[in-house]
Amino acid sequence: MKIAVFPGSFDPLTLGHLDLIKRGSALFDQLAVAVMTNRSKEPLFTVDERVEQIKEAVSGLDNVSVITTSGLTVDLMNRIGADYLMRGLRNTTDFQYERDIAAMNNFLDDQCETIFFLARPEYQHLSSSMLKEVTSAGGDISAYLPKNINEALKQRLKEKKLLKVKEHNEKTR
Ligand code: ADP
Repeated sequence: MKIAVFPGSFDPLTLGHLDLIKRGSALFDQLAVAVMTNRSKEPLFTVDERVEQIKEAVSGLDNVSVITTSGLTVDLMNRIGADYLMRGLRNTTDFQYERDIAAMNNFLDDQCETIFFLARPEYQHLSSSMLKEVTSAGGDISAYLPKNINEALKQRLKEKKLLKVKEHNEKTR
């Protein structure tokens, strides 16, 4: 049985991530999307919120599960019996970063095989941080996020008083 792990921050999950999940789900028997809890970046959504958001977005994919993890990805892989680590490549910057992580994971566990998916052209420019920035500045990026996550993003930015609304822009012009 081919089991893969797709670890990431997913703060929040974009359609670029979701496209990879769908492609991984078709390639592997089981795919675990692992929300990393030990990242230094200050997240906009809690790990539990991200897990719920991703579960809703992947609800049609029967062989995909959503879990959380801290610590080494290779330890998680050994715990759940995964042989493959899935990651995405958007550009050469991703390539250099991902190549080093893959080499380190391979050093930590020589059974760990990283499989890279090239981002589809329509999603190559997408990052969670860019979508947060554009939404915060009043841009509509609903075409790039699952519906539930687009709503949650606007709501969270509003709560944090980080959402610029058009009305406000117009009044202050
Ligand atoms: P991390 O903090 O681990 O980089 P991210 O959530 O930013 O977490 O990304 C997780 C993985 O998804 C990474 O391999 C990243 O290169 C990939 N990825 C991010 N955005 C996209 C996208 N738009 N298309 C394809 N892959 C992507």
